[in-house]
Amino acid sequence: MKLKFQTGCPSGSEPAQYIASPTGHNRPEGNSMAYPAVREIQVKSVIAKTDIPVCDYAVNPYVGCTHGCQYCYASFMKRFTHHPEPWGAFLDVKYWPAIKRPERYAGKELFFGTVTDPYNPQEERYRRTRSLLEQLLGSGVKITIQTKSDLVLRDIDLLHAFPGLRVGFSINTLDESFRADMDHAVSIQRRLSAMEALHDAGVRTTCFISPIFPGLTDVPAIIDRVKNQCQLVWLENLNLRGSYKAVIFSYIRERRPELAGLYEEIYSRGSHLYWESLDQRLRVYAANSGLDYVINNDRVQRPFDAPPVIVNYFYHEQIKKSACKRPRNCQLPHFHV
Ligand code: SF4
Repeated sequence: MKLKFQTGCPSGSEPAQYIASPTGHNRPEGNSMAYPAVREIQVKSVIAKTDIPVCDYAVNPYVGCTHGCQYCYASFMKRFTHHPEPWGAFLDVKYWPAIKRPERYAGKELFFGTVTDPYNPQEERYRRTRSLLEQLLGSGVKITIQTKSDLVLRDIDLLHAFPGLRVGFSINTLDESFRADMDHAVSIQRRLSAMEALHDAGVRTTCFISPIFPGLTDVPAIIDRVKNQCQLVWLENLNLRGSYKAVIFSYIRERRPELAGLYEEIYSRGSHLYWESLDQRLRVYAANSGLDYVINNDRVQRPFDAPPVIVNYFYHEQIKKSACKRPRNCQLPHFHV
């Protein structure tokens, strides 16, 4: 996920030391997502202190992400890693020294997947996320995992071993066609089924509706679909910055030209009217549905079987400013979505 607590320095992107013989595949021209360049790298640590408001540490067992979402905020990582491949077409697999005294993280919030998906398809082979979970067993850490994959079900035995652990699934549409246009992760149906399976197994789940595409993401329809299988619904608006702004604008002009004016209004002229209106509509929806609706508050604790709390992060920029400890030079990473 990215709770797009915006911009900049790659939390968890400690300098990498490349192992001599990378394990990259030979990729046929034009099929980079199916055959990403994969390398194994040695890093000093995989747990990095972060300023993200909802956690203490960012955990990213990989550099890059082969889901290759068109709107990926984490693609800024390429500025630091200097990979020649397009975003989504490379993956560095991290190896780190054994974690000394994992109990020193007791009570701390670790967020798995701020700039990668910890359950990308390559995790099936490399098992770096699973390895880290095993290393943290019994440490008392509080873990949040964010993913677009049902591979997380493989580790259900470990998930149970972390009290309060929660798994978030990024779902910003129920339209499989739009989903396929935007990412290379598993289908929405598979994400929904995985969420349900975890919920049925007693694991806390979050539906992260992000990024919300104006005019395309039907937020109430998604909440109606998931409200009996999660404890939290996070909402985050699409925020277009960097190189992907042109990509998304091009997509909208070509595939949904009737929305081009709305996107210009929001992303070229800076209007907030759409988000304010959506906020109002969701307040009414939540009230009519008997759901709690809060702004920027991830601390609401509810019983497992209670209806989910809807948390609106539309105004994350204000969070970023208030969370910023170094106002002149503060950069917070995104969560991936
Ligand atoms: S948005 Fe998340 S899942 Fe998609 S490419 Fe970026 S890090 Fe991966």
